[in-house]
Amino acid sequence: MKKDNDENNVTVKNTVPLIKDLFHIYEKVGEGTFSSVFLATLKLSDGSKKFALKYLVPTRHPEKIERELQCMQQIGGKDYIVGLELCLRSFETVVFVMPYMRHDKFAEYVQDMTVQETKDYMIALLTALRRVHKFNIIHRDVKPSNFLYDRHNKRYLLVDFGLAQEYVVENKSNNLKLLNSEAQVTKRKRSDENSLNVSFNIRKKGTEEKCYCFGKAKVCSLCISRSEQTAPRAGTPGFRAPEVLLKHPSQTPAVDIWASGVMMLCILSGTQPFFHSPDDCTALAEITTIFGSNKMQQCARKLGKKIIFSEDIPGVDIVSLCQKLQKRNKGLLDSNDHNTCEKVSLDAQFPKEAYHFVLGLLDLDYKTRLTADQALNHPFLKL
Ligand code: ADP
Ligand code: MG
Repeated sequence: MKKDNDENNVTVKNTVPLIKDLFHIYEKVGEGTFSSVFLATLKLSDGSKKFALKYLVPTRHPEKIERELQCMQQIGGKDYIVGLELCLRSFETVVFVMPYMRHDKFAEYVQDMTVQETKDYMIALLTALRRVHKFNIIHRDVKPSNFLYDRHNKRYLLVDFGLAQEYVVENKSNNLKLLNSEAQVTKRKRSDENSLNVSFNIRKKGTEEKCYCFGKAKVCSLCISRSEQTAPRAGTPGFRAPEVLLKHPSQTPAVDIWASGVMMLCILSGTQPFFHSPDDCTALAEITTIFGSNKMQQCARKLGKKIIFSEDIPGVDIVSLCQKLQKRNKGLLDSNDHNTCEKVSLDAQFPKEAYHFVLGLLDLDYKTRLTADQALNHPFLKL
């Protein structure tokens, strides 16, 4: 374990005196928008048990800290979900003490995961999500850096409940409503602002007749004067579900399933990141290139929105797309390492069920998208 002499890290580590009394703190093992995570061992121990100390940024809202804490306390410690050993606070700094798990980088294993390894990985991820969703919680930031994987020891851990939200079932048809949604004001995109000419026009009931820009590549004064639409849009670019991108006000656990589908797509294609999504409009355009403009329009219609495309986009066959991308990556590997290339070609022949599975996770309609439980019973994982 390395000593860490970085000045900033030393300052962070000194903010909670009791932590310094209890732990030897080593190098920084992770960093996100809201935290720095350090490796540590207990001073009064033989040092064999390792801990991850997550120092939250002092500006984090207390309600969000409380929610993250509750999620780890109530849901964690089981089914590949990180548990909490201790939480300490000194003035504005809060530190979560968690069991440490060594893990590999997604970029290092995504290109050569075998079929069986992929099944085990997805089973662990969906088992964790099934448990989270049972507690009426949406994780809202499912992505490889929040699902740790120790390839050598075959261990998995879902971490980071920093964006988690509670939701309630609204009626029997499983229409779920988000509780305490942080409505964020999001900028309305003008149709002519994005490179792929995908324009979308959000209309309120009862004002349609007065709108002069509907279907046109400009925004009329009435639409400009309308109040901006608010919707929760937590998550990471590239992993946001269509209903999040289309600013649907109520979001469900299906947003986590979409994100797990994007992770599966990365594995099937050996490509990461799969979607670059520099902004929500481009993200919609990228999803459209996969599924086609018709399916995207249907998806928007079901959410009470309308997307207008300047041209028809046919969509692609996911099997040949993934195989082409795999081949391209194999080509890259080929020139560097012949052994790795052979391994990929022998082991990474995904059966057709794998593609059916990924399409179930990436169902554009959140109401028919697979649930974690349904996904775990999919033939790809059961075979
Ligand atoms: P943030 O909310 O800032 O994204 P995370 O909880 O996702 O913080 O932690 C950031 C990184 O720290 C993770 O991507 C991971 O690399 C590392 N990390 C977090 N928890 C653990 C843990 N229990 N064991 C090992 N590494 C961890
Ligand atoms: Mg994180």
